[in-house]
Amino acid sequence: MDLANHICSCRKWQLTGISCNHVVSAIFAIDRMPAKFVDQCYKTTTQQAIYSHMIEPVRGPNQWTPYDTCLPILPPVLKRPLKRLKKIKIKKLMKEMITIKKLKRKG
Ligand SMILES: [Zn+2]
Repeated sequence: MDLANHICSCRKWQLTGISCNHVVSAIFAIDRMPAKFVDQCYKTTTQQAIYSHMIEPVRGPNQWTPYDTCLPILPPVLKRPLKRLKKIKIKKLMKEMITIKKLKRKG
């Protein structure tokens, strides 16, 4: 366990950012507060910064942007998969081979 680098051998601390049982017991053993070892993303200041920007509400369709100004959304270009082409080519070749063999037997 490495308290300075936030590493524990059970890997829970590295994965979640929340200190595991091993870490908490080690922190209490050195008389420190476990809350100081929690990852920065769980702190109140970070959460306040994340939700500080407000999304403006729209009252109805009359406030939507008109369709005329938007670019048309086209469907994606469909491509035939390569495997299917390969199978068709192989089948054609097999048919040609069979016809050639039949011709040779009769001739
Ligand atoms: Zn652990």
